[in-house]
Amino acid sequence: MKKLALHWKILIGMVLGIVFGFLMNSVDGGKSFVIDWIKPFGTIFINLLKLIAVPLILASLIKGISDLKDISKIKKMGARTIIIYVLTTVVAIVIGLGIVNVVKPGEGMSAETIDKIKTKYENSAGVADKLTKASAQNDAGPLQALVDIFPSNIFQSFASASMLQIIFFALFVGISLLLISEKKSKPLMDFFDSLNEMVMKMVDLIMLFAPFAVFALLANVMIAFDDTEILLKLLVYALCVVGGLFLMICFYLLLVGVYTKKSPFWFLKQISPAQLLAFSTSSSAATLPVTMERVEEHLGVDKEVSGFVLPVGATINMDGTSLYQAIAAVFIMQVIWPEGLTFSNQIIIVGTALLASIGSAAVPSAGMVMLVIVLESVGFPEELLPIGLALIFAVDRPLDMCRTMVNVTGDATVSMIIAKSLGKLHDPKPKNWDDNYEKVK
Ligand code: ASP
Repeated sequence: MKKLALHWKILIGMVLGIVFGFLMNSVDGGKSFVIDWIKPFGTIFINLLKLIAVPLILASLIKGISDLKDISKIKKMGARTIIIYVLTTVVAIVIGLGIVNVVKPGEGMSAETIDKIKTKYENSAGVADKLTKASAQNDAGPLQALVDIFPSNIFQSFASASMLQIIFFALFVGISLLLISEKKSKPLMDFFDSLNEMVMKMVDLIMLFAPFAVFALLANVMIAFDDTEILLKLLVYALCVVGGLFLMICFYLLLVGVYTKKSPFWFLKQISPAQLLAFSTSSSAATLPVTMERVEEHLGVDKEVSGFVLPVGATINMDGTSLYQAIAAVFIMQVIWPEGLTFSNQIIIVGTALLASIGSAAVPSAGMVMLVIVLESVGFPEELLPIGLALIFAVDRPLDMCRTMVNVTGDATVSMIIAKSLGKLHDPKPKNWDDNYEKVK
């Protein structure tokens, strides 16, 4: 029998997880069963992915940069990456603003529904947590984000998985290796090459477990839904976000088709395991090792491009998040602060949603923290903030899953474009976990 493709196995795991979680939600003791006996397997999977993320970024970026053998190419790649990331994010925000202004999901929400949502979530721990995190971000000086890129102790950066610091360090090492004689640089380059191969193999091994892990992750998501009535009231808003995200995916497919001349369906098929994991984990950072593996081995992007473009993208390129922030901000204003909905405020939202998506961490729910900053930038009254967040809280998790999937697809798209523009896109050579198994079993 032909082996089932990985994305089908993951999809089956997801569907079974959703059904199982749904059933467990309605039986006595079902929720605690999922929390005690199912959820830990999802956590183990995410831990394993996080475990290999740091060595993977380090090895593939250092190896990639030293392979480029040309500092002007590094500059070209860096500049193009940043420009395309900013452009795609602006497209996402404009799509979001267009949809929310045409559909106006916030108008017509009854006072009774607003009251119900307010009572349920305004003082909830979840909303309070987002507000505290946002105010910590706010307290930082204007150049703090820049300062934070430069580590003083790289082991601390490894320990806290500070992506931009690790990227900076890897670039620093890679460029310095290029500037010393080949004889001296070769041992280190060989070391990172070998480290990179090994970590990629680890990704293959971890992915064997993916169908079971997504079952656990989705069952756990399902048991968190408790108020379907509120979910239905927010349906139009949620559909606006999902519709916008769908348009964004179409935009990526168009870019891939037109610029790289590859079939958009082929692209989707190759990248789908990473998309499904992004959906299941709600974290582009946790998905990063899988995104890198798919982009390098299944889309044919050379390491020197993917090693840079993807980690940077996971940290700063969040098109799904920025689209969501634009829609959520305007939706909240439509419901509780319509007088703030001026044209100039919407222009401000384009700028702040761009910065906020760059500043959002690649972890679950980070987009909602930065949404507070978007709202504050247009002068949204502080006392209304908890109510504003309460309004969208109930549907945040499913929307987070969808926007993370778009964030990851955006990174993969841009890496294809940059690779094509630098002549670094080749026919892919996928590797399997057991390519060398016969020799060692
Ligand atoms: N969860 C998203 C990510 O990891 C960020 C967000 O929008 O909350 O990409």
